[in-house]
Amino acid sequence: MSEVLITKKINFVAGHRVHSQNLPKSLGPNKCRFLHGHEYMLELFITSDLDESGMVLDFTFFNYLNDFIQRFIDHRFILDINDPLFESITGITNNSLDWSKCLVYYTITETDGKLELISTDKEKSLFSKFNRHYEEFNNEHKQSFIIVDFVPTAENLCNWFVKIFDRMKTIGLIPAKIQLSKIRLYETQKAYVELIL
Ligand SMILES: [Zn+2]
Repeated sequence: MSEVLITKKINFVAGHRVHSQNLPKSLGPNKCRFLHGHEYMLELFITSDLDESGMVLDFTFFNYLNDFIQRFIDHRFILDINDPLFESITGITNNSLDWSKCLVYYTITETDGKLELISTDKEKSLFSKFNRHYEEFNNEHKQSFIIVDFVPTAENLCNWFVKIFDRMKTIGLIPAKIQLSKIRLYETQKAYVELIL
């Protein structure tokens, strides 16, 4: 039997700003540099032979990724730690502040079948958040941000979701043999980015 393709769609809303945008003046303002948001739709494609249960991958396995997105990304602002406006956007303006102590880097782990986050060193992290122990700042405000170390274009976000998916495979939440064949991220109904893997 030939290979079968399955797809899964995951919706979420999030804010971002593309501080790297630099269009010629003839095309008008660099709107993507403004703080704004999207109704994103992530679409995952997996191609494989059928397993002994007659499936490529039980769709239930996508619950882990959906859970991660809904708990940690949905309704958050995705901010590049290298954004020149990082301090003014976050409201933290103390120039003497030690960012390495202010931010905690996180990756995904699994405990008793439940998806959890653990703090880790920067190299292994999937994203970072403000340290909850910095009580001098407003926690509600800090919880609005998911901090990444790339410009959050749809292209880079696609790459990031591939890393998150791979991390879930590494820790056994998704069967190791499953390979993404394509990933697509819609920023609007008319504009999407696709990564062929
Ligand atoms: Zn945008």
